[in-house]
Amino acid sequence: FFITFEGPDGSGKTTVSTAVAKRLQEKGIDTVYTREPGGIEIAEQIRSVILDPANTAMDSKTEALLYAAARRQHLIEKVLPALAAGKVVICDRFVDSSLAYQGVGRNLGIEEVLSINEFAIEGHWPDKTLYLDLTAQQGLDRIAGRQNKDRLDQEKIDFHLRVCEGYQQVRERFHDRMIVIDASKPADQVIDACLEAIGALIDR
Ligand code: C5P
Ligand code: MG
Repeated sequence: FFITFEGPDGSGKTTVSTAVAKRLQEKGIDTVYTREPGGIEIAEQIRSVILDPANTAMDSKTEALLYAAARRQHLIEKVLPALAAGKVVICDRFVDSSLAYQGVGRNLGIEEVLSINEFAIEGHWPDKTLYLDLTAQQGLDRIAGRQNKDRLDQEKIDFHLRVCEGYQQVRERFHDRMIVIDASKPADQVIDACLEAIGALIDR
C-alpha cells in the first residue's frame, strides 16, 4: 500500500506520519517511512536547491519542475522497490502538494502542474491519501507559533490561503482516494484516527 499525507503547513504531517509509520512497524507491518521532497540522496540535493532562501531568483516553473524531478527519482529509487517487496509506504507529501503549492499557491494552474507530474509518476498514484484538515486560520496560527513570531508578512499569508484553496480543489478532484482527518485535535488523537483509517484499509 502506498499512503501519502497531505495538508497545509502547520497541519502536523511530519509529526503524525512519522508516528503512524512507527506504530505500524511495531504492529509487525513492514513499513517504509519517507518524505518529499527528499527521501533519497539525489532528491535531498534537489530539495536543498529548492528550499535554499538564497535562491530568490527561482522561477515558479523551474520550482515545479524540480519538485517533479525530485519526486520521480524518489519514486523510482525508494517507493516502487518497497511496494514491489510488499511493504507499506508512508510518504509525507506527494503530487497533491505540488498541485496545491505550485498549481494554486504559485498560480501555475492545477492542470499544468498535473501534466508534468503525470509525466514524472507514470500512473503510480497513492492508494490512499490522508488529508490533515485544518482551517486556513488554524494553519496560520500554527506556522506563526513555529516561527516564533506573532505576525507573518502579508505575502506569506496570501500564499498560505491560496495553498488551502488549492488543497480544497485537489480534495474534490481526487475524492476517491482522500481520507479527511480532523487535524485540529491533539496529536495523539490525530495519530489514532489515521491508524484506524489505515487499519481498515490494510485488514481488508
Ligand atoms: O514538507 P515540508 O513542510 O518540510 O516542506 C518544506 C517547505 O516547502 C514548506 O515551507 C512548504 O510550504 C514548501 N513546499 C512547497 N511546495 C511543495 C512542497 C513543499 O512550496 N510542493
Ligand atoms: Mg513537515
